[in-house]
Amino acid sequence: MEHENIERLDRISSHLHALLHNEQPALLDLTGHKEDEIRQVGEFVNALTEALSALSKAAHHLSIGDMDVRIAADLPACHHLKNLQATLRHLTWQTGQIAKGDFSQRVEFLGDFSHSFNWMVEQLEAYRQRILGQNRELERLATTDPLTGVYNRRYLMDFATKEFLRSQRYSHVFSAIQMDIDYFKKINDTHGHAVGDEVIKAFTVTCQEVLRESDVLGRVGGEEFSIILPETDREGALIVAERIRQVIADLKVCAEERIIRFTVSIGVTHLRQEDAGLEAVLRRADEALYLAKNGGRNKVVTA
Ligand code: GH3
Ligand code: MG
Ligand code: MG
Repeated sequence: MEHENIERLDRISSHLHALLHNEQPALLDLTGHKEDEIRQVGEFVNALTEALSALSKAAHHLSIGDMDVRIAADLPACHHLKNLQATLRHLTWQTGQIAKGDFSQRVEFLGDFSHSFNWMVEQLEAYRQRILGQNRELERLATTDPLTGVYNRRYLMDFATKEFLRSQRYSHVFSAIQMDIDYFKKINDTHGHAVGDEVIKAFTVTCQEVLRESDVLGRVGGEEFSIILPETDREGALIVAERIRQVIADLKVCAEERIIRFTVSIGVTHLRQEDAGLEAVLRRADEALYLAKNGGRNKVVTA
């Protein structure tokens, strides 16, 4: 009897040894033994075998990144693995959100990893802000005139093209104004180029004070400017042009301790039904400006 018990204990011991070393033993077969203690030990060891092999399988799946493995929570260790699984799933979702541009995501539960991860997300947000700022600056440089800060020819032509198409499609009206500072060469020759620059800057500042926010002023040449006035008919554009002509004629520009006065000639036109393209509108504005120059300058002429 004693010899048999020793043999049984040996089998239990080698079974547990195999379990500890992850050797996946077959279920312990203790049938035929009547003793309750032996049977209970057998049942316990078999239950333990099953639980440990389920735990080992779940840990293996998690270790290779398979988040969908089902974990039965019948051991405390399984409960911890389930928590880890939920954490990793949430982290996967957060990473997806970050990839979509949501940089408000932060990880709070993975120790040192959280610290590095959150730092990475903060860096990504900083890079994005820097790139957005640089893009805004590039956009500004590409669309504005460096001397005056008003729009350049390229932006004005883009805007005018869109305005032409929009107005034509919806049968709206818009107007175009063409302006050229009178005898500007003489200002340069008399007072120098730097004073000429100050005159050009003062001209744009004064124009902008007269214009509405929706009107677009652009520098299209050295001392030549265009204005596109959305939703503005001929009469409205004429009023704006006449106001500009008047305030410029009254303006005194102080530069290098001199006071410079000057005038501007202005051509005005509006979109007509027969206009096939933007070029037709701008050509009419140019012709009107030409007439204003020939008519003695410091004048507003409509096409
Ligand atoms: P008009 O009344 O017929 O328009 O005569 P104008 O002298 O204004 O015309 P013109 O086209 O002969 O002269 C324009 C001058 O503008 C010539 C050019 O040197 C000067 N100019 C062009 N761009 C700038 C600039 O950025 N700064 C300065 N100071 N002068 C410029
Ligand atoms: Mg000119
Ligand atoms: Mg001129």
